[in-house]
Amino acid sequence: MDVDFEAVDHEAFMREALKEAELAGLAGEMPIGAVVVHAGRVIGRGRAQHQARQSEIAHAELNALLQAEQFIHAHIHDGCILYTTLEPCVMCLGAVAMSDMEHIVYSMTDNWMKPKPMLEVEHVRRHIKKYVGGILEEESLWLWERFDPHGLKMLQEGRSVTA
Ligand SMILES: [Zn+2]
Repeated sequence: MDVDFEAVDHEAFMREALKEAELAGLAGEMPIGAVVVHAGRVIGRGRAQHQARQSEIAHAELNALLQAEQFIHAHIHDGCILYTTLEPCVMCLGAVAMSDMEHIVYSMTDNWMKPKPMLEVEHVRRHIKKYVGGILEEESLWLWERFDPHGLKMLQEGRSVTA
């Protein structure tokens, strides 16, 4: 099933991802959240859980994808949209393409990892049709200011900064 991407209320779903980001921040994690949406319904939720899982790869997007995986595997993959409060890293971008999903909507740009060149990788380009950023960016920024101002500086300036 194809999705009418332009007709979707992206802000409403980004608010769901922001809720996850806030829960992550409140738990002492980086304030990053994600949801997977299919046919107007959230089918997977995730948030950063590096501390909780003692893992460097427990990213919000990956956690949301893993929760949605059974659904995605059993149904037609296209038409799914991943919403994430921070532009996905190279691992998560790869995982979205591997999941046969078509669309990514993010809030804040990642100037630290600068993942956009990854969109040119043939496999990724074949899968990802829409890649849209800047949705509710102020809200995401506010969560970083509240929970991880040091991390925010890195994301904005694209370099390591000493605390
Ligand atoms: Zn990631």
